[in-house]
Amino acid sequence: MLKFYVVATPIGNLEDITYRAVRTLGEVDLILCEDTRVTVNLLNKYGINKPTMSYHSQSKLSKIDKILEMIGEGKTLALVSDAGTPTISDPGSVLVSRVREAYPEVKIIAIPGPSALVSALSISGLPASEFVFLGFLPHKKGRETLFKEISEMKRTVAFYESPHRIMKTLDSLKKYVGERKIVIAREISKIYEEVVSGNSSEVEKYFLDNKDKIRGEFVVLVSEK
Ligand code: SAM
Repeated sequence: MLKFYVVATPIGNLEDITYRAVRTLGEVDLILCEDTRVTVNLLNKYGINKPTMSYHSQSKLSKIDKILEMIGEGKTLALVSDAGTPTISDPGSVLVSRVREAYPEVKIIAIPGPSALVSALSISGLPASEFVFLGFLPHKKGRETLFKEISEMKRTVAFYESPHRIMKTLDSLKKYVGERKIVIAREISKIYEEVVSGNSSEVEKYFLDNKDKIRGEFVVLVSEK
């Protein structure tokens, strides 16, 4: 039976990859990567020498047709993103859907592994049996409405944020959500990993006082109402 693998890769520390992911990446015919340079770095660490091809958010529809053609020729493919689980705020959903439609007989297999969202929740101490994940917040349209919705939510809210917008976001949380408990997980599994928690003003003050920490990758968690 033909297989199409969706493989989770590390979100920082390159040791955070499963045995099964390493074996699978070493066995497939081709690896579809968000950025081939990023993935080749991982492949080199594990001595995997396999052809790679880019598949990212800007990829044209013709790229999907090409990928479907390769599957039709009997090739086994794996999809990875730069970090974490593909399709979670990353490209891949459209491709997976097209593979499923075009080849119902192909088994689409998840190789589970890291995701920044789950890692952040696991160390936050906030209720995580139920949560709302918002991916990246919109930059403009709908942003204010969303913050108002967050302020009413009765579950932990999680979203991804960039260093360029984190201060603006903390300011909006203070304005719309008020002094709710916030947990920020930054640079998970990397050298400068840290978790900052407190109410909205405290967390904002921490980053205003420590501007050198406004860098890297962030997961923001907001406590339920
Ligand atoms: N698919 C990925 C996953 O499963 O986690 C997420 C990809 S999304 C394009 C990238 C965002 O995830 C970053 O902007 C940041 O918000 C979050 N992220 C990724 N790695 C992280 C890390 N090591 N520490 C904290 N947040 C991280």
